Amino acid sequence: MKYFINAKIYPEFHHIEVSGKLVDLPKQDQITFYLNKNFVIQKFGIIDDMWKYFFDLDGEAPQYVAIARPVHIILEEDTVEFQYYGTVNDFIDDVNIIVPDLVELAIYSAWFPFIPGVLFDYSLEIELPNEYTVISNGVITSEKQNDQCTIYHVSSIMPTLDIVICASPKLIKKSIASENLLAQIVYPRDFPQLSEGKLEAISEAYNQLGRILGPAKQLGYLTIVFSPRYGWGYARTPMFIRSGQYAAQQTNSEQDHHVDFHEMAHFWWDIADPQTTNDWINEGGAEYSAFILSKWFHGDKFINRLLYDYISHSEESITNTPIILTESTSPDRYVNRYQKVTLMYLGAEKQFGIDKFRFFLKAFYTKYKDNKSATTENFLEMAEDYLGAEASRYFQNILNLKSWKSINIRKDILKLE
Ligand SMILES: [Zn+2]
Repeated sequence: MKYFINAKIYPEFHHIEVSGKLVDLPKQDQITFYLNKNFVIQKFGIIDDMWKYFFDLDGEAPQYVAIARPVHIILEEDTVEFQYYGTVNDFIDDVNIIVPDLVELAIYSAWFPFIPGVLFDYSLEIELPNEYTVISNGVITSEKQNDQCTIYHVSSIMPTLDIVICASPKLIKKSIASENLLAQIVYPRDFPQLSEGKLEAISEAYNQLGRILGPAKQLGYLTIVFSPRYGWGYARTPMFIRSGQYAAQQTNSEQDHHVDFHEMAHFWWDIADPQTTNDWINEGGAEYSAFILSKWFHGDKFINRLLYDYISHSEESITNTPIILTESTSPDRYVNRYQKVTLMYLGAEKQFGIDKFRFFLKAFYTKYKDNKSATTENFLEMAEDYLGAEASRYFQNILNLKSWKSINIRKDILKLE
């Protein structure tokens, strides 16, 4: 599937106008897209009959994108065209907005019509007023400036689930190119300290993780964006976005690097469907990788503090839901998917040998790197193949463990003392 999209953005008016088409659709009679419920559709459908759609404003939102509503279409060909417009006045999910200081658009605002879980390529033309710095999870292949505005042409680098645009007159872009990596950092003009030493640290960490897990799937690009806002961060290979406001408060601290490492590690750990309970594979893999990198960069003192946090949070988890049944809406999402899984992996290093365990993890990543289909069952099967039945039982027990109060984490898992 491939999108061809034209987007005109008027930040002053919080307004966006989009037209485009989607080609090579799967062969089926009917198809459902999701789009921001506040947008006004002008056309949507197959080429000869672009008015045969139903925008179901009373329909259900897909998981994770509360603002989206279904658009049903009868499909007689494999191409659909669309045209619509809308405004994004306020933050959606704390991260997406159209204001003069910041245009940040990703799937959270349902700014493009999407089919949940289906990968695609894209070719995008974005029109913005001059003086904006523009970044995307694709590559900007050309820019053309007129009197008023600049048109950027962007192409996806690999099949993706999202089209991210981040643009602001407040942002500065810096890059360093090494033999096999073009690393870029984008940060608010007001916080120059955010760029100091960061690109170097992250490029080094990137190479180090590549030595452990094999090459990442992002094909030579790495972009870190500090968006001029609060809110949270997310990774869209080969870019990740963090809150510039929060990062500026903890610049270049060990904790700050740790967050960078976690987001960057998603260039590898993006092998399970994030909309399922299998997401522990992504988050646990990223946090464990960040732990290894933090240890490498900052030594034992800092990671002992991390370890203390992992253990105390695991003992204090609110629900009795085991890791593999934890939903994204659970209050224990973070502790279960990130912290407990890291403890489980650190325990596996101790119990089955650090080299053997990492060799298994590398094989697991490599097998699923080109799709997002890795499941708990796949993980356990491969663990048995690479590390033996005992290891498979070890993982199974921990993944199904309800209360972490019932065990001595230091002794039983980490084999400390
Ligand atoms: Zn993560």
